[in-house]
Amino acid sequence: MRLLVTGGAGYIGSHTCVELQKAGHDIVIYDNLYNAKSAAVERISKITGKEVPFIKGDILDEKALDEVFCRYHIDAVIHFAGLKAVGESVEKPLLYYENNVSGTISLCKAMARAGCKKLIFSSSATVYGMHNEPPFTEDMPLSTINPYGATKLMIEGILTDLAAADKDWSVVLLRYFNPIGAHESGLLGEDPQGIPNNLLPYVKRVAVGKLPCVNIFGDDYPTPDGTGVRDYIHVVDLAKGLLAALKALETDGTKIYNLGTGNGYSVKEVVAAFSRACGHEIPWRIAPRRGGDAPFSFADASRAKKELGWTAQYDLDRMCADAWRFISRNPDGIQ
Ligand code: NAD
Ligand code: UDP
Repeated sequence: MRLLVTGGAGYIGSHTCVELQKAGHDIVIYDNLYNAKSAAVERISKITGKEVPFIKGDILDEKALDEVFCRYHIDAVIHFAGLKAVGESVEKPLLYYENNVSGTISLCKAMARAGCKKLIFSSSATVYGMHNEPPFTEDMPLSTINPYGATKLMIEGILTDLAAADKDWSVVLLRYFNPIGAHESGLLGEDPQGIPNNLLPYVKRVAVGKLPCVNIFGDDYPTPDGTGVRDYIHVVDLAKGLLAALKALETDGTKIYNLGTGNGYSVKEVVAAFSRACGHEIPWRIAPRRGGDAPFSFADASRAKKELGWTAQYDLDRMCADAWRFISRNPDGIQ
């Protein structure tokens, strides 16, 4: 297949492009480089030994999208492009609704004009909200508590309505849990700007000496060691899940899959695993809880196993070892 990968220069997108090319698919990356560097595209090519067509463009720019669909025969779109910082979404809700929701509508309109009606959307475990008991199953009631999560929920609804209205559409909604880790080559990995909000990027900065200490947000949750539990998944496993999900585009309608391991690890377990990976103790201290954090989040990943034949393979030590290789070789990120 020839796949248009929006946001393909970003963290999950770049790893997915490697797996897509390795599996023999042709790709075209479309990314405005808001949160990525074009060097990431060169690194994909270095890993796979294949050319990577790249177009710098915005999903809000329908004319530019029309040109892409005119220039390439695209069989399906894998849609990663979006903004993802929860805190920033609270401060700048309009930016998030416009970029994520309006951007997806603009993409779908361009797809419809081109007669390309197969789409895989990057949703998030955040849509399970605060009121469900994990493991989360795809049919649980959904809710969110921040604008970022609201954009994911809205887009899921829009795409479901679209596929219901026009039987030519095939939509796959993938709910990612917590991707971490990096490509084993050390060439690709996560490269956030500024002070990181998420746990792993923060731990990595501490590990390379750029930040003094990890703040563990609360140790009084009803979890085994009192710290928050999340379903961390190796980004390469996630990328392989995306590859497996192409199969679900063969039938019309909307399909939904969790992409997680089904296991939860606590913040303290993650810090300990990263200390093993980097060979020195990561300093940490207990800080107050962060508002809006659920104690537990982990997937029921059985639907993806049953219907897509996919399960995650890598454990937490491997995730941390690969993340450490990337950050120690690229302390200033992908340049
Ligand atoms: P990322 O920021 O590394 O990648 C997103 C890419 O989209 C970036 O390269 C950015 O430049 C591009 N982009 C943003 N707005 C765009 C626009 N208007 N037009 C064109 N390109 C645009 O993020 P990621 O971690 O790779 O996440 C990819 C997707 O998966 C996002 O939609 C995110 O919400 C979702 N997701 C991520 C996580 C996570 O923890 N990383 C978890 C669940 C879901
Ligand atoms: N966390 C932490 N310190 C940090 C960042 C995160 O203790 O500097 C905790 C957070 O409270 C949660 C877990 O690590 O329990 C994962 O947080 P992250 O922001 O990475 O993912 P999310 O909460 O969005 O699933």
